[in-house]
Amino acid sequence: MSPLPDVDRPSMEDRLALRRLAELFSLPRLERGWVWLAGAGPGDPGLASFLTFAAIAEADVIVSDALVNDSLLALARPEAKIIDAGKRGGKPSPKQAVISGQLVNYARKGLRVLRLKGGDPFVFGRGGEEAQALVRAKIPFRIVPGITAGTGGLAYAGIPVTHRETNQAVTFLTGYGADGKIPDFRWDAIAQGSPTLVFYMARKHAGEIAARLIDAGRPIDEPAAIISNASLADQTTQLTTLGELGRVALEAQTPAIIVIGENVRLAAGLDWLGAALHGRVLDPDPLKNSTLRNTG
Ligand code: SAH
Repeated sequence: MSPLPDVDRPSMEDRLALRRLAELFSLPRLERGWVWLAGAGPGDPGLASFLTFAAIAEADVIVSDALVNDSLLALARPEAKIIDAGKRGGKPSPKQAVISGQLVNYARKGLRVLRLKGGDPFVFGRGGEEAQALVRAKIPFRIVPGITAGTGGLAYAGIPVTHRETNQAVTFLTGYGADGKIPDFRWDAIAQGSPTLVFYMARKHAGEIAARLIDAGRPIDEPAAIISNASLADQTTQLTTLGELGRVALEAQTPAIIVIGENVRLAAGLDWLGAALHGRVLDPDPLKNSTLRNTG
């Protein structure tokens, strides 16, 4: 795993302060023999929940995913065992059964075990599978939800995941099926049924996904956005159209979340981060060119 940042590492007092705050709010504590499956949010450490922070400071063993921000791990006790269960440097990630087995074994030894995942553990994160393994092994556990890339990542690009004027529904999808191909969706139903589509793990197959949606009737000039490294210092947003999506996605960095729908236009008016960092001028009427407004 990449080296932990060693500037201003949290101290023993910092961990105690976290614990005092947790007591103040009567929050549950990560107990011996328990596993917490916790979300770390999309990247910005500030988007991890307080329960996640407190669990990091308390855990004996932390099994962490590649998408978890390393700076959060700096909060761990110096003697904590940190296991990198993510893909890094082209090496394959450990098999799911191996990870679940580790959680069970450490908990059975009476250790406080934290399973840290990017975003929300129950959103395209296999948190359910790991929790089921704990149930089978009769290990007590808690789920700590996190801010998922499909909502939090969009918010950092100034794109509301729902907006009354553009979409009163949204669908979250993965672009990557179990066999490495695009999943076998009913593309006509998805294209017609959901005004906004948010795709995880879809960068590679973005062109194919766009083609299916266009085939199923979505306009070729429908707005789309690719947000890479959302909520991190190197976040980038590319605004494009469904017709151009595949080409633009190939140049995008990962991790990347893809959103397709009229709500993407709102970025022109709500990209608060671009405004703060680069002085971008926010458009007070970002939906003026929306097909919804002009055909309604
Ligand atoms: N459990 C995670 C998702 C894991 S699947 C969650 O709730 O967010 C991994 C996919 O999540 C990536 O392929 C990407 O589509 C998305 N993702 C996670 N973090 C991201 C980030 N910081 N920026 C953009 N996309 C991200």
